[in-house]
Order: sequence, then C-alpha cells, then structure tokens
Amino acid sequence: MQNIVTKEGFPYGFMPSACATCGGKCCTGESGYIHVNKTEMERIAAFLNIDIETLKSDYLYKHGYKYSIKEREVEGSFECVFYDAKQDGCMIYAARPVQCRTFPFWEYYKNRVDELKNECPGIVDV
Ligand code: SF4
Ligand code: SF4
Repeated sequence: MQNIVTKEGFPYGFMPSACATCGGKCCTGESGYIHVNKTEMERIAAFLNIDIETLKSDYLYKHGYKYSIKEREVEGSFECVFYDAKQDGCMIYAARPVQCRTFPFWEYYKNRVDELKNECPGIVDV
C-alpha cells in the first residue's frame, strides 16, 4: 500500500512516492517567492560552506524586507537556483527552507485543492 501523509485540518493527503517521477514541479514552473529567514540563511550558508554575504549575493535577492531564493529562466519556465535538473532534486535538501519542507501543507492551499492538484501530482483525496 502507498504511504500517504496527512495533516490535521487539511482536506487532502500527500503521497511522497510521486516525487520520484514528478520532475520537481514544486521547484520549477511558474515564478514564485521562496522566502528564507535569518536562521535558514545561516543553515544554508553552513551547508554550502560559504559566508552569508556570498549566499545573499549569489543565491538570494531582496523582496521587500525579506530575502527570497533566486530563480533561473529555462525555456520560458522558471526554476529555483538550487534545483538540480540532472539529479532531479534539491542541492540543499538537508538545509532547505521551511517553506519547502512544509509543502504541500500550506494554509494557502487549504481551500485551493484543485489548484494544488495541478501543481503537485502527489495530492490525493482522503
Ligand atoms: S510537486 Fe509534489 S510530487 Fe512533485 S516533487 Fe513537489 S512535492 Fe513531490
Ligand atoms: S530550495 Fe530546494 S526544495 Fe526549495 S524550491 Fe529550491 S530546489 Fe526546491
């Protein structure tokens, strides 16, 4: 039987095995913000063995008073700079920000399940 993750208060479940064949849809596609706070920046910088200033200049940009991870444009689509298409995965997986760790259980999607299903093939009805 497929492993399905659920979370209280969310009207859907998530099947992690879908990630193996999905092609990283949540890290690619439409442009979006991937916010990182100070603690997350420190964790990512330590993981990459670089200093915070290098992390900011090479991988982040300012969005209002927050920082977001840069994206690169690939054939009219966008992908997070930490997305590694060759490996089909996240280059900073162990240090990825909370926003990525908590996907697909975001408040935003609680009432937008159809939109989420378009984004993530791992979403199942529960
Ligand atoms: S979109 Fe869903 S299935 Fe695809 S990699 Fe992201 S979490 Fe996994
Ligand atoms: S940090 Fe990693 S998990 Fe998050 S969007 Fe970028 S590649 Fe995906």
